[in-house]
Amino acid sequence: MLRCYSQPMSFQVFGIPVSRGVAIGRAVLVASSRVDVAHYFVEESSVPNEIRRALRARDEVARELESLKQDMPSDAPHELAALLDVHLMLLHDDALLGATRQWIVERHYNAEWALSAQLEVLARQFDEMEDDYLRERKADLEQVVERLLSALAAEQGRAPVGAASVVQRDFAGEDPLLLVAADIAPADMLQFKRSVFHGFITDIGGKTSHTAIVARSMDIPAVVGTREASRLIRQDDWVIIDGDSGVVIVNPSPIVLEEYRFRQRQSELERARLARLRHTPAVTMDGERVELHANIELPGDAVAALESGATGVGLFRSEFLFMNRNGELPSEDEQFEAYKAAVEAMKGMPVTIRTVDVGADKPLDRMTSNELRHEHVLNPAMGLRAIRWSLAEPSMFRQQLRAIYRASAFGKVRLLIPMVAHLAEVRQIQDTIKRVKQQLDDSGQGYSEVELGVMVEIPAAAVMLPMLLRHVDFVSIGTNDLIQYTLAIDRADEAVAHLYDPWHPAVLQLIAGSISQALAAGKGVSVCGEMAGDQAFTDLLLALGLRSFSMHPSQIPSVKQRILRADAKRLAQQVPPVLASEDPQKAASLAFTAGTGRLQ
Ligand code: PEP
Ligand code: MG
Repeated sequence: MLRCYSQPMSFQVFGIPVSRGVAIGRAVLVASSRVDVAHYFVEESSVPNEIRRALRARDEVARELESLKQDMPSDAPHELAALLDVHLMLLHDDALLGATRQWIVERHYNAEWALSAQLEVLARQFDEMEDDYLRERKADLEQVVERLLSALAAEQGRAPVGAASVVQRDFAGEDPLLLVAADIAPADMLQFKRSVFHGFITDIGGKTSHTAIVARSMDIPAVVGTREASRLIRQDDWVIIDGDSGVVIVNPSPIVLEEYRFRQRQSELERARLARLRHTPAVTMDGERVELHANIELPGDAVAALESGATGVGLFRSEFLFMNRNGELPSEDEQFEAYKAAVEAMKGMPVTIRTVDVGADKPLDRMTSNELRHEHVLNPAMGLRAIRWSLAEPSMFRQQLRAIYRASAFGKVRLLIPMVAHLAEVRQIQDTIKRVKQQLDDSGQGYSEVELGVMVEIPAAAVMLPMLLRHVDFVSIGTNDLIQYTLAIDRADEAVAHLYDPWHPAVLQLIAGSISQALAAGKGVSVCGEMAGDQAFTDLLLALGLRSFSMHPSQIPSVKQRILRADAKRLAQQVPPVLASEDPQKAASLAFTAGTGRLQ
């Protein structure tokens, strides 16, 4: 028996809604350190083989532990041998491997997934034990499971599972699965792009944490910052994720379930309706043309960008190419192939490639934000991040620039630099570009004209924008970080999420000033932070004169719908009272929706 099937109690958990829609499915609890364990289904015919893999791993670990015992020096403390005996006992306990086998047989999980699912079940039982000694045995169980997972990984290295035995099920007739974890690092979220999960819930994180951003890019419902969902929800519980309101309903009653299934169908119909706008140009009622570009993380995302009707890529977050590589950086050729793939996929439309922005909540390895915040780096958001890291690693930076310039021979490429705050940085970047172009010329490699742009995401850049504008071709406003640094709010920290306010007058002043200064200088300006894809800000940004938005492909149709119904000139007349207001959100809702600038 995997678990006891008494009538489960229904309850709700509240968090921050970060990716819209409703997902209904069974909970899969995954500990942060094991999030990167492969999750896939095996064919019915491969079930016996998968069980054999689990048993072989058990035998391998048993041999390891036995030989550790044998080789123990005679003066080793007695407790060490006793500990190994505990590990051996746990390894042979039917509650571990017997139940793991059940997950494989009943749910067709691969061995690693089955093992981590069972670990979550047992870990919970240990947590609930009264006896301190027994409760502490959870750590031993975790160590045994880590050994088993390593044995499975090593075996996988020797004899990879044949592709035919790995199934990405389409869930016809299956229960969809929802991921529940304390935290998920952005690097791990990337793995989920190709995964089986239909939604996810985490204990920590904020609306514009990178984990949330990746969820939105996958267009699956997600709620973060629930604080204790991973403690309250149990493996295999039925769960509803309401990604619009941030509510998670665990073990819902049949009536509630039916209500949410209805809402799910409604939002699918709405999506289908909006999808018809794909080929409609984004032009306001008074004839103002607006560019709607896509934010992408990997070259493969260009497909979704095109399908959504994007007219270019406004932000290619290149750092995702640098993740999940065990510390090894992608070579120039690898990067070149990735950029070229995105450029070719966009068929002549502009592709804005941002140089690597690692650091803060996007470490190169899979540290969770929690680990980052508390253990490794003093203040990662203010540390060696983005362009600071690039300039500190000149050969890595030149390599990336060469790859980007080489890709420019295949289409329209624009270069975007993150986290610029100093003119000296721009000068250093320009010198590096000169050197890179010379290297390409010397080696006879072709490239085209590449416009240079900087992100406006540190308040200093917004305040000194006229100076920066003299040196660059365009700017892109990164509202996620601009809000973080203006208000001194860690965007990934749920404890201060209520203070992360895009409507704050100081934030609006900086955005408004940046747009008008760029326009006055005759330079391109766009917004590529999350505000661009949030319909609540479409009127405001149009009113401020913005004509280029970049967002997740899934957000393009709804933003386009708002643009089609807007009268940009009339919206612009409402700007002064909104910017002067002590409560801009209220002022905007009065000014923009009271029949002044839009068709209702
Ligand atoms: C931003 O800060 O708004 C932005 C687009 O960059 P990122 O979210 O990757 O930090
Ligand atoms: Mg940023």
